[in-house]
Amino acid sequence: MQKLTIFHLYPDAMNLYGDLGNITTLVRRMHERAIDVDLLDIKRGDKADFKYADIIFMGGGQDRGQKAIAEDLAKRGKEIKSEIEKGLVALTICGGFQLFGKYFKTSDGEMLEGISVFDAYTVGSDKRCIGNIVIDVSTQKWNSPLKTLVGFENHSGLTYLEGSTKPLGKVMIGYGNTGEKKDEGAVYKNCYGTYLHGPVLPKNPHFADHLILSALKRRYGKSASLKKIDDSLEIAAHKAAITRSRTAKTVHI
Ligand code: GLN
Repeated sequence: MQKLTIFHLYPDAMNLYGDLGNITTLVRRMHERAIDVDLLDIKRGDKADFKYADIIFMGGGQDRGQKAIAEDLAKRGKEIKSEIEKGLVALTICGGFQLFGKYFKTSDGEMLEGISVFDAYTVGSDKRCIGNIVIDVSTQKWNSPLKTLVGFENHSGLTYLEGSTKPLGKVMIGYGNTGEKKDEGAVYKNCYGTYLHGPVLPKNPHFADHLILSALKRRYGKSASLKKIDDSLEIAAHKAAITRSRTAKTVHI
């Protein structure tokens, strides 16, 4: 039986707007394919050997949550980066995404060092970007007819991509990384950062499957594949979210 190991980073401090639902989605979609899952919660001070991880997940958190874990994450930075270089799959949301960049300077001027997986930095602003968001991910070449991701964003940090770091997608509705350029999120190898809460994976089954398939290929070889499952409900939810986002206004407060 195939088995994948998920490391969930700081579930106690970094979990906003249902981010935990991403773990539920990954586990459920793996179980539906008879893939066994080991799920490890990694909290501050816990021992963790990232060589055993197939997927790491870190959710969003308020500035307070980020301050609480930034130092612990920084100590693990070298090891995480080295595994990401070797293809480790990672999904990081909002506050987690910010700390996978070079730094997050909060709106009170405090500097939180990130682990520099992404060539990006984040600066806190005095506005919040709040609302439903839809992004175009057609450049990602995922094996799916869905070419968008839907979610909900709420952040004051604005993230600027540098160098060769590519965005995950282009904003169609909402703000994304800065609210000015159309960039949303970041991708480096198999590591993804995004501002999409919701949680993001239940209504974006193609993204969930892309993460699972990438992890399977890394562990079991390039011929690994995923059995199709019935996604009619998930796709209906995805489309309904797009329709709702078109009518509901996003706000800056
Ligand atoms: N504290 C960060 C910000 O507001 C992250 C928020 C979040 O994870 N939703 O920019």
